[in-house]
Amino acid sequence: MSEVLVLIDAPQGKVTKPSLELLTIARRIGEASAVVFADADGQSADTSVLAEYGAEKIYTYADSTFAEYLVAPKAEALAALVAEKSPAAVLVPSTSEGKEIAARVALKSEAGLITDAIDVAVDGGSITTTQAAFAGNFTVAAQVTKGAPVIAVKPNSAAPEAAAGAGTVEAVSFDVPESAKQVKIVSSEARVSTGRPELTEAAIVVSGGRGTGGDFSEVEALADALGAAVGASRAAVDSGWKPHTFQVGQTGKTVSPQLYVANGISGAIQHRAGMQTSKTIVAVNKDEEAPIFELVDFGVVGDLKSVLPQATEEITKRKG
Ligand code: FAD
Repeated sequence: MSEVLVLIDAPQGKVTKPSLELLTIARRIGEASAVVFADADGQSADTSVLAEYGAEKIYTYADSTFAEYLVAPKAEALAALVAEKSPAAVLVPSTSEGKEIAARVALKSEAGLITDAIDVAVDGGSITTTQAAFAGNFTVAAQVTKGAPVIAVKPNSAAPEAAAGAGTVEAVSFDVPESAKQVKIVSSEARVSTGRPELTEAAIVVSGGRGTGGDFSEVEALADALGAAVGASRAAVDSGWKPHTFQVGQTGKTVSPQLYVANGISGAIQHRAGMQTSKTIVAVNKDEEAPIFELVDFGVVGDLKSVLPQATEEITKRKG
């Protein structure tokens, strides 16, 4: 069976859920091989988790040079691995770093590139991706016709499935050329933990807009009852109610969770651009004419100050 290379994202050594999703997708295509780069402290991803989610081989790069420079060294090393292993496909997380690495690897390997994939299907050996295009207004089915497809896959495109893989660790080295050392990282800050899932990775996102009036307590209580991340519209961010890291939309983050709950958000095109590939969309808005209701699966016309506490109470009760 052909090998499928999966670039693993593991900040502080912890393998992210989207990386496990990629291993699951890789197994639809062939044998999953994880590719892991050590971080600046020389810390590597927990390889046992990768084996538990089906990695047959795990290629590890221990050199901390990869963490000292932005993307280029990783892209060079991955492209060299592609040339050596001739995989059936290369899967990377559709983060800003992942997409840049994917583009560079595709260019170096003279292979087709697909970004923002929200599904990857395999039929008789041919790989078809579903891709969100034009700010999520269209979904496009696409196939790569040249080289091993390099595919950047959005979080929540598959449920991570455990499957015992051999997890054979193979240490690999790569001499990073000077040409790839042009952008050095001078400082980095660990993400401040909110105790909630990361917005772009979360399976459920509960967002608030101008309709919250600046009080996000009901939005946050519902998010916590659902184990969700909290998001915000630009109006809420511009009002100073939440930092920009919470913003969903064209000039914020793109999310594609299983469930997106929009509260007091009108549904402007720029907000939709960041959330309309969500699998199920629910909105609470007191204006029944609000444009957000055009794209919801379930809509509640009402004041979020009274609807959300009732929903939170019911969910908490059912969780027992
Ligand atoms: P509003 O449009 O003011 O809507 C508030 C809604 O809350 C209304 O529908 C109202 O009926 C409802 N409401 C009020 N009170 C209650 C209540 N008590 N209970 C229930 N419902 C209530 N926007 C983004 O979100 N993300 C972006 O990335 C983004 N990028 C942009 C980029 C550009 C270049 C531009 C021009 C705009 C961008 N915008 C973005 C802004 C966007 O156009 C909208 O202005 C913004 O999304 C509106 O935010 P909102 O829905 O929270 O506020």
